[in-house]
Formats: sequence, C-alpha cells, structure tokens
Amino acid sequence: MQFCGKCGARLKLKQIRTEGKPFPGLACDRCGFYIRIESVTTKPEESSTSNIKVLGDEASEIKTLPVTTIECPKCSNMGAYWWFLQTRGGDEPPTQFYRCTNEKCNHTWRLYT
Ligand SMILES: [Zn+2]
Ligand SMILES: [Zn+2]
Repeated sequence: MQFCGKCGARLKLKQIRTEGKPFPGLACDRCGFYIRIESVTTKPEESSTSNIKVLGDEASEIKTLPVTTIECPKCSNMGAYWWFLQTRGGDEPPTQFYRCTNEKCNHTWRLYT
C-alpha cells in the first residue's frame, strides 16, 4: 500500500489520464498527486514523434521511401531513394542519404552539406 507524497491519503490504483495516452498508476483522489507504475509488460513508447527514418537493409523498407531525381555517382542512374538519418544524439542536423534506384547498383551515399 502506498500513500500520497503530498497529503498522505491512500493512493488508489487507476488509469492516469494526462494529455497523452492513459497509463497505469497510483493516484490520490484528494489532491491529484500520482505515481506512474512502470509496467514490465508495457512496450517501450514508440518514438513516433520523430520523422527521421532509420533505415535497415531490407528492400521492402527501401520501397516505401521517397524517390528523387539525382544522378548516382556510381552508375549514372537518374534516381535515388532518400532519407534522413540523425547522427550522434541530435545536436547535429540530420544527414541526408541517397540510395540508387537501380537494384543492380544499390549504391548508397550521403549528401555533404
Ligand atoms: Zn494527495
Ligand atoms: Zn547507381
């Protein structure tokens, strides 16, 4: 059993509703104080707030990427998938990457700004 850190009333197990999604927690009816319960079964929050596409090597993932008209430095194919990749924790601007749409080439390069 746990008690409120503010007013000492008994905390109740309930869904806490904040501006985001509701989550399980212990809440005080009297003053509104609450403690979030870190549930092991809860999936880690998906960082859907980030628009930066982190790319694997799967071709299916590649197909969902936007294509731009740019010359491949390797095979001179005029088209490449592109995406941004955040490097080192976010103090630096994301780097733009390209991958040649020619499947026999698949050359990947980054845009140096
Ligand atoms: Zn309280
Ligand atoms: Zn190419």
